[in-house]
Amino acid sequence: MCGIVGYVGKQKAAAILLEGLKRLEYRGYDSAGICVQQSNRLDVAKKVGRVENLVKEAAKQRFTGTTGIGHTRWATHGGVTDANAHPHVSCDGKIALIHNGVIENYAQMKSFLLGKGYTFQSQTDTEVLCNLIAYHLAKEPEAQNGTNRFVECVRKTLRHVEGTYGIAVLCVDYPSEMVAARKASPLILGVGDGEYILASDASALVSRTQNVVYLRDGEIVHVTPVSFAITTLDQIDVSPVVDKITWSIQDAEMGDHAHFMEKEIFEQPTALENTMRGRFSEDGSTAQFGGLNISAAEFRQVERFVFCACGTAWHACLVAEQLIERFARIPVEVDYASEFRYRNTPLDPSTLFLFLSQSGETIDTLAALREAKRKGYKALAINNVVGSTLAREADGGIYQHVGPEIGVASTKAFTSQLLLGAMFALYLGRMRDMSYSDGVRLVNALKGAPDLVRKALREAPHIREIARRYAQYRDMLFLGRLSLFPIALEGALKLKEISYIHAEGYPAAEMKHGPIALISEKCPSVIFATAGEMFPKVVSSMQEIKARKGPIIAIVTEGCELPPGIADEVITIPDCHEAVLPIVASIPVQLLSYYIAVERGCDVDKPRNLAKSVTVE
Ligand code: GLU
Repeated sequence: MCGIVGYVGKQKAAAILLEGLKRLEYRGYDSAGICVQQSNRLDVAKKVGRVENLVKEAAKQRFTGTTGIGHTRWATHGGVTDANAHPHVSCDGKIALIHNGVIENYAQMKSFLLGKGYTFQSQTDTEVLCNLIAYHLAKEPEAQNGTNRFVECVRKTLRHVEGTYGIAVLCVDYPSEMVAARKASPLILGVGDGEYILASDASALVSRTQNVVYLRDGEIVHVTPVSFAITTLDQIDVSPVVDKITWSIQDAEMGDHAHFMEKEIFEQPTALENTMRGRFSEDGSTAQFGGLNISAAEFRQVERFVFCACGTAWHACLVAEQLIERFARIPVEVDYASEFRYRNTPLDPSTLFLFLSQSGETIDTLAALREAKRKGYKALAINNVVGSTLAREADGGIYQHVGPEIGVASTKAFTSQLLLGAMFALYLGRMRDMSYSDGVRLVNALKGAPDLVRKALREAPHIREIARRYAQYRDMLFLGRLSLFPIALEGALKLKEISYIHAEGYPAAEMKHGPIALISEKCPSVIFATAGEMFPKVVSSMQEIKARKGPIIAIVTEGCELPPGIADEVITIPDCHEAVLPIVASIPVQLLSYYIAVERGCDVDKPRNLAKSVTVE
């Protein structure tokens, strides 16, 4: 959510900033802007709407400077207007600043500054930051002990701030320098060849360098054309660790696909292979994970898990719950991260927490993790972005290794989370009662998942045809049982997110306790009718829908015989092991919502009001 780019180097900054902002578009935003330091001026261009609008706006000015900052805004304080777009410049013209996050005590700071004669151009919380830095700069004598006055004024300002921020700042008096800092909003510094690129995620800088420093909460980085230095808010020097990004710019590009979402749906077989790589034991009977940092003995003490996540990742937790309870016989509770942090759940010492987030920057999930840790509990994390805040703050965890996911509607990250949930269930199961041969059977089933997904993807042309017939409905139900109930939830979420059709997911048998009132020829149901003991029960639910003239899209496993005429549409998926079924069953609902959204002319990769990773509460 919201994007930050900064550049200090020898090239003209504007083009690099605009290119970076384009790459961050997927995060979700409503306006964009850049500021370039031009000799003794800070020149700004900003505009509501797409980065494309900003590109046109910027073309009207001559941006030649080689130091600059750029921002895509996702409004929290103040409407979506050109004036509220970032960068903001202090009223004395000395400081330009971009900000991701929320300044909770901005009102007090604003009245203080108004009292000192400072003026404001916007309704944002952000603008107080640049005026407060300018205030300190005007007041502060030249630093005595060799410290940089610009950095010290930013530090002083941040000490007064309550809330969250990722900021990048320019100062007229310090040409070719940039100061950036973070608290709860991600920031990465790319160390390039004679240049530095700051960004809120790697996709904005990977075309220029793969060497990055992940900034941590409470750190301030001071960048000049020849060096950078990191200190903390308390003025302690930090020795930077330069990491290497393992993916390249091609991974963050669309290739021949019409949308990132389509690319990522079809990438799933490879993504699943990458998630599993090197993670099965040599004897082929269990999973192994490098970074859990919890011993087998400790795992055996765990009597209860609490899983916390938001959105799609929460659905993955619901599937993992069922698999862990089934294979390892450990009770699992799944909570929305945003709810957990405000509830006062009774916990006992044998509880272990697990947090799931693709980006590892979801603010609600991070807050829940911090709450669990504050209470003294150990916390594991599953996330995709290496070096994310979640990965760093958890005691241990598992990376998904599916490469960058750019489409706002999560697909490959979701199925990879499902896979890791199953592998984790296997790992725990094998520490308890699961036999060697059951372990081997499960490992082999999981290894087969990529090929089964390949097979399920072959239904795409058929699903596209179905999508054409169902694109104009206003409501839809998604129904499934057991581990396919979370997939029904996920199918409904996908459809809502990208096609704006109202959809609800329910356990199929729950339908008769309420949603059945919605059934009519105007409300189709997508229903999972897969092989197994639930099949006859699901068929009964289908009969109830049919009796009320509801159109039915049935997703069946190969070999399942439905009563003739009961389904209006049938999509077949390969029959598979119960741990793999949720993964394979996700494919048709992803494709259906994707093709319906395309059919309706929706902006699939940038759905309205949504952000890829929600970094504000
Ligand atoms: N709170 C700031 C604003 O509303 C920053 C929002 C963002 O993260 O983009 O302008």
